[in-house]
Amino acid sequence: MAKSIVQNANATVRLSLSFLCPTMRGLYTLLPPEAEKKCYDLIARYKNLTIKTVHSRKRTLGNYRQCGNGEHLITINDNLSPYTTLVVLIHEIAHLETRLRYGKSVPAHGKEWKQTYTILLKSFIYSNIFPKSIAENIMLHAMKPRATMSKEFIGILNSCNTD
Ligand SMILES: [Zn+2]
Repeated sequence: MAKSIVQNANATVRLSLSFLCPTMRGLYTLLPPEAEKKCYDLIARYKNLTIKTVHSRKRTLGNYRQCGNGEHLITINDNLSPYTTLVVLIHEIAHLETRLRYGKSVPAHGKEWKQTYTILLKSFIYSNIFPKSIAENIMLHAMKPRATMSKEFIGILNSCNTD
């Protein structure tokens, strides 16, 4: 499908996302603009994937599951800061990638998921998607992935605005 690219004032490459269904478009309004294109390319790798933004849940920031019909569903809370949304998205896509590679037999946050998450997160770090002020913290997090993000780490992600 053709996608048109427009430049904003900061020369960040923005995608025209009008062709996306409203469900998927919701995600892009929450992501840092710098991450839009890389996320689009990453998401486009997967067939039958829907990503929904949902009202805030107390016990989870995001979730991945494979539905009975084989479709993949990722949900992400809609009240997160842009960089938190991005890290949660990468966390959940690592679950999807792990499912496709290893099936259901491996633990949810086992070494297969950790390896996948580290690789994905590093690719965003090396693409300079994260601001310099937090890139080192993101790298430390990528080297020691955890199932849940600490309050301190979320605080670091929240400290960066995109505008
Ligand atoms: Zn998880």
